[in-house]
Amino acid sequence: MPHVITQACCSDASCVNVCPVNCIHPTPGEPGFGGSEILHIDPDTCIDCGACADACPVDAIYPLDRLGPADLPYAQINADFYTEHPEITSGWDAVEYRPAVRVGSEYQIAIVGTGPSAGYALRELVARTDAHITVIDKLPTPGGLVRAGVAPDHPGTKGVLKGFDLMYRHPRVTVATNIEVGRDVSPAEIDEYFDAVIYGVGASSARKLGIDGEDLPGSTAATDLVAWYNAVPDVPRPFPDLPARSHRAVVVGTGNVALDVARILLSPVERLRTTDIADRALEYLTRQDLHEVVLLGRRAATDAAYTAAEFRALQSVPGLEVVVDEDDGIDVTAPADPSRRRIVLKFHTSPVAAVGDEAVEAVRVDAAGTVRDIPADLLVRSIGYRSVPIDGLPFDEAAGRFPNAAGRITGPDGGVQPGRYVVGWAKRGPSGGIGTNRIDAIATVEALVEDVAAGKLAGGRGTGSEAFVGMARRRVGRVVDYGGLRSIDVAERRRGEVQGRPRVKFERFADMLASTRRSRRT
Ligand code: NAP
Repeated sequence: MPHVITQACCSDASCVNVCPVNCIHPTPGEPGFGGSEILHIDPDTCIDCGACADACPVDAIYPLDRLGPADLPYAQINADFYTEHPEITSGWDAVEYRPAVRVGSEYQIAIVGTGPSAGYALRELVARTDAHITVIDKLPTPGGLVRAGVAPDHPGTKGVLKGFDLMYRHPRVTVATNIEVGRDVSPAEIDEYFDAVIYGVGASSARKLGIDGEDLPGSTAATDLVAWYNAVPDVPRPFPDLPARSHRAVVVGTGNVALDVARILLSPVERLRTTDIADRALEYLTRQDLHEVVLLGRRAATDAAYTAAEFRALQSVPGLEVVVDEDDGIDVTAPADPSRRRIVLKFHTSPVAAVGDEAVEAVRVDAAGTVRDIPADLLVRSIGYRSVPIDGLPFDEAAGRFPNAAGRITGPDGGVQPGRYVVGWAKRGPSGGIGTNRIDAIATVEALVEDVAAGKLAGGRGTGSEAFVGMARRRVGRVVDYGGLRSIDVAERRRGEVQGRPRVKFERFADMLASTRRSRRT
């Protein structure tokens, strides 16, 4: 009876490392690894030991006989992978062990960010060095895009944060959040306090489409919409009240983010009421009247950017119809039928303009050479993320990320800026799911360790975390430590318990910070 990997898989390959018979693929370096597709267990080689299930950070692996109905198709999906990839073989091969180079306790290292790439870098630094590590984030709460980006109806995926939380409690780790690098503290100042700084700041802003009407009210970037429904503090609803003229939203792009947005907009509100979606979004979605989301793919269905696992997850929404339109056969020029909920994936179709006097009323599209208007109350641009530049740090405007050579930040002259490193989407651009960041983080930490071994990065120069936190506190008023993170977490979970939800997130900085003050008094 083999184990099976299911939809929630984050592909971070933690399971690959513990499998005694090497039956989980693709592994790093094999075809397909590094996308956000799930990993697969070879049913013919699996010895059913369960080590992978224990190691899985998102609880995505089950024995075949314990799969629920929604996960049963994944048994075939796991097996099919090995039929489709005969070149990939299971069974144990030799493993190459890297020589250990210790980075001593005199090193003070800062990690900016608490998302997946920063979390994996922290884990690697704790495991591979004796350095003291200070974790900095601009929000009081940790998690980066796991908290602010992962859809509220994908709770399993957020389990990855438990592993990072363990690291925050490590005696060599100091947590200092509610500090924005670039605004409260400059990179040059941070350089004074630490021997090395790893920037894992992700990519939280949007690429622009460059079409007429893109900035009309009713047109929003998916990044802003997702931040709003995931309760990023003090973020307003990025569109006005929808007038229900057409009962329709148009989403540009066919990536997993586009599918997340479509699924959340069309989910029955009772389904969302059991999640950690922001209260402000729950309140609004209860009274909005969208019944159709049209996704625009400028190329063919075979070029769609979503992964098969996420496409299948659409089936988990009760009553949701999903239609794939490859040849402009589905007419979406009349208002949507309010008696049903439907996603139409329209391929070979590009947006030309957002049309409307004071707000979006239609999206003008070019469908294989024919231009027409799709009536819509909302336009969501889901065409990829960009990193937000940090004042005082080199930035590649064209690529929307921080220039680097294998994780070492480089300046305008192309030279490495000693002691500055980057990891994750901020390093390579916005591609790949959560787990892809593990291998990426290992590579950046490897670069740092190599620099220490080569005598290019001295320790003991930085004044360290205590002095840094003291300085930051004078600037921002309240620096949130690990105790503060815990009290926000506990308070949110308590608010959730009352409503039968995993948590009810705070939506304002002031409320988050107030909950850390209350816990200090008790
Ligand atoms: P993405 O996967 O890169 O998709 C971007 C989409 O925008 C593509 O369909 C692309 O089409 C389209 N696009 C780009 N420029 C366009 C233009 N000018 N006009 C029309 N269409 C345009 O980006 P994403 O959805 O933001 O996702 C980012 C990463 O996060 C991905 O790796 C994704 O898998 C991952 N993610 C994973 C999950 C999950 O696993 N559950 C959830 C969310 C996100 P072309 O292909 O034609 O360029």
